Amino acid sequence: MSERTAVLQRLQSIDTKIKQLEGDKLYRSYDVQKKRDQVQQKKEKLQKLGEDIKNSQKNITSRELDLKSKESEIHKLQTQLNLVKTNKEYSAIKTEIAGKEADKSIMEDDILRLIDIYEEAQQRYTTYQKEIEGEESQLQELRRHVEADLKTIDAEVQELKKKRNEYTALLDHDTLQHYNRLVNHRDSVAVVSVVNKVCQGCFMSVTSQTVNQLLSNKELTFCHSCGRILYLDSHNEEQE
Ligand SMILES: [Zn+2]
Repeated sequence: MSERTAVLQRLQSIDTKIKQLEGDKLYRSYDVQKKRDQVQQKKEKLQKLGEDIKNSQKNITSRELDLKSKESEIHKLQTQLNLVKTNKEYSAIKTEIAGKEADKSIMEDDILRLIDIYEEAQQRYTTYQKEIEGEESQLQELRRHVEADLKTIDAEVQELKKKRNEYTALLDHDTLQHYNRLVNHRDSVAVVSVVNKVCQGCFMSVTSQTVNQLLSNKELTFCHSCGRILYLDSHNEEQE
């Protein structure tokens, strides 16, 4: 194998590693974003629950006022009872009071029912709030972990880029240009092996002429199908 091919292979393995690390970085950042979105959604739900609670409190207050006015109506009627002169009037007011007492009892039941719902919602709010607090501290923890991971990855990438520069310096301008163009356009894989006359980049057969060219080791050899730079991998050849 020519030195140039060896350098290209090293370069390829460095670039593959860099691409993988950049992918890891994205995934790690995505983890944080996903968690942050989850927490945000829960916070919005909590806010909505808080608004519901406020509304139900207003509702209870207004019904309590209704109840008070019903009570004062009853009180007025009871005062009137003392002033009536006929039995007929007396029993008419008594009937009216009974009707209002029945209304009042329904209103009281209603208010108690609303208070139950209100208290239950308040409990739910508190539980949910605690849950969110827990998730927020999980998020902080995750963020710290990911930041540390990203620093480690960045350092590794920097190191690989240094190495990359050392290898690119060993290549002639044309070869490097070919390589860079391929690595940018062929899913980051520019250099692939040929095993049993098959390109390992696109898995198409290569011609005998291509194999001969590879054996002669003089010039860069490209796959006719995918255009990648080829090298012979005799270790993986099948025994015939
Ligand atoms: Zn190919």
